[in-house]
Amino acid sequence: MDRRYLVAGNWKMNKTYPEALQLAQQIAQGAQNLPDTIEIVLAPPAIYLQSLQTVVQDVSGLHVAAQNCHQALKGAYTGELAAPMLASLGLSYVILGHSERRQYFQEQGALLAQKVDAVLDTTEMGVIFCCGEPLEVREAGTQDAYVQQQLEESLWHRSAEDLQRVVVAYEPIWAIGTGKTATPAQAQAMHAFLRRSVANQYGATTAQQLRLLYGGSCKPSNAADLFAQPDVDGALVGGASLKSEDFLSIIQARLQQF
Ligand code: PEP
Repeated sequence: MDRRYLVAGNWKMNKTYPEALQLAQQIAQGAQNLPDTIEIVLAPPAIYLQSLQTVVQDVSGLHVAAQNCHQALKGAYTGELAAPMLASLGLSYVILGHSERRQYFQEQGALLAQKVDAVLDTTEMGVIFCCGEPLEVREAGTQDAYVQQQLEESLWHRSAEDLQRVVVAYEPIWAIGTGKTATPAQAQAMHAFLRRSVANQYGATTAQQLRLLYGGSCKPSNAADLFAQPDVDGALVGGASLKSEDFLSIIQARLQQF
């Protein structure tokens, strides 16, 4: 079963407005004429979402995502953004459960389940759901159970049909922004485990359809080896998504693995 590949750039809290526009334009330029077997997603800081949506709208296969949303649909939550507001800009995805949101903003399983519900129940957007273990869990060898629990807590209450709108990004925390990447074998082992876990929960068809991204210091020099793994469908890229040439080179690495 063919899964559509996906390479997403998480810009986090980086770039001024002119820099963000320039980066998006360079990526849009480099991503012209993409085959429909791949999808590219840019997740800029929220204040640039609308402008980026304008930059990408004529480029087939290039989409914009929010980095987060609130679980409530509207109301007195100063500084927050609701899923229907993001959808009204025409965005395609919301990233949820990023380890920085979990660590710095105390976002954990039950809250993330509510955010997943807000996106899936009230919009047509997809969710890029992040999971991944800290170093001490990896060193203890209990990463499979740890990551499975993250999925159980925030996703498993949804139906198999809903799962078709979810992309799971495996991002070992010890590899995020550290320059230390999971080896292709480590990434493949976890992705295969996640697919088995989804198969147990939802059946083989849903598991085969689920797109699994690797995140954690993915860069031009290691992308091809990661993408050569059968269960690595794409990448969620942080630091290397801030330079157009690096991000485009990661996209090329994905395309060359067809
Ligand atoms: C991320 O934060 O999602 C990420 C993968 O960051 P980096 O590529 O910089 O490790």
